[in-house]
Amino acid sequence: MKGHPKYIVHHNSRYEDWIRKKPCLVCGVVDVDCHHVYHSGSAKLRNSYLSVPLCRDHHTMGRYAYHRMGHRTFEDIHSLDLDWEVINYLADYMEEHDGYREDVSGSVQGDAQAEVEAFS
Ligand SMILES: [Zn+2]
Repeated sequence: MKGHPKYIVHHNSRYEDWIRKKPCLVCGVVDVDCHHVYHSGSAKLRNSYLSVPLCRDHHTMGRYAYHRMGHRTFEDIHSLDLDWEVINYLADYMEEHDGYREDVSGSVQGDAQAEVEAFS
């Protein structure tokens, strides 16, 4: 079983708005919800940074929606690791907003990709 660190509350409405401008993580549809992957019951206790973009169908309404099937089944059905996706969105956000981007060569990206595949 995967362990998770102690839950920490962070609110950042700009980050959530940024997530809402992304296409759905599953199907690529635009006009999405900001789905909080981990939260502790109350919406007030959400962590903005632990979120991904999901269209309404994949968030709450559709047959294969997150809130219909639960975290683990949702990941399995859609072949996703939501922890990894959360980190990818954070990395994109930081690169866009810090004006900082490390010069990464194609070969380094290739190695990173190989490593990702080794995990799955
Ligand atoms: Zn979708």
